[in-house]
Amino acid sequence: SDHQLTYPASPALMDWSPYYPAFITPDPQPTPNDPAPKALTKPVTVADIGCGFGGLLVALAPRLPDELILGLEIRTQVTEYVEDRISALRAQHAAASSSDGRYQNIACLRANTMKFLPNFFTRAQLSLMFLCFPDPHFKARKHKARIVSGTLCAEYAYVLRPGGCVYTITDVEELAEWMRGRFEAFGKVGGEGGEGGEGSGVGVFEEVPLPGEGEEGTWVDEGGEKGRVGLLVRCIREETEEGKKVTRNGGKKFVSVFRRRADPAWP
Ligand code: SAM
Repeated sequence: SDHQLTYPASPALMDWSPYYPAFITPDPQPTPNDPAPKALTKPVTVADIGCGFGGLLVALAPRLPDELILGLEIRTQVTEYVEDRISALRAQHAAASSSDGRYQNIACLRANTMKFLPNFFTRAQLSLMFLCFPDPHFKARKHKARIVSGTLCAEYAYVLRPGGCVYTITDVEELAEWMRGRFEAFGKVGGEGGEGGEGSGVGVFEEVPLPGEGEEGTWVDEGGEKGRVGLLVRCIREETEEGKKVTRNGGKKFVSVFRRRADPAWP
């Protein structure tokens, strides 16, 4: 449970050095009395919420080489598995010619993202977030456990930069509709609660048009923003462990992407 989770009181106090050792600013004069955590040469900008066994992280590492990518996972053993997986990949690619080597830009951290996201990320820090195959919590009385709600949309809007995107995928159509409903209502007048009321006016998120099933390749070829969307959609569909499982079982996948508007009326 949460009392065993460690998390920083604020993002400035987070020591990222064990997670991204290749991206730590060298400390010219380390002093034992200076508790300031070692700074990263650049911030984490991509978060995979509930990353599971890390398939997406591994797929994204070479595709987003300039970003620092963090998987957040609540299960201890799963987090440890992903940490070992990343260590092995780093060791295997250590001889690579680039100074920082491959797979240095991904890490996994144990956290309850429903409670502690703003402890790790400052406002507008992230450019991409992934919610891949979140637990569906089918029963109505369990809906409050879903990782998309009016309250959590507020946190996602806070940590995402204007123009940043949330990628969602699920094989449960009802959950896909639920997530769309929450993201579309958020920030509208009367839409904050998001539990049914659609609200009016302009919301904080807008849905991004997507390629149809089987069309991702076409979009990837287009390059630019559209190509990037196509590439990331293909990654969440094909490279997540759950995505592979759904493919094996011949199931359907529902993908939606929401862009955080630059809304001066919303903090
Ligand atoms: N995203 C992965 C994929 O697509 O293969 C894993 C999907 S799995 C169905 C959902 C994951 O979310 C589980 O690994 C679960 O432990 C994790 N999870 C659930 N609630 C969480 C929370 N509050 N914070 C972090 N992770 C959570």
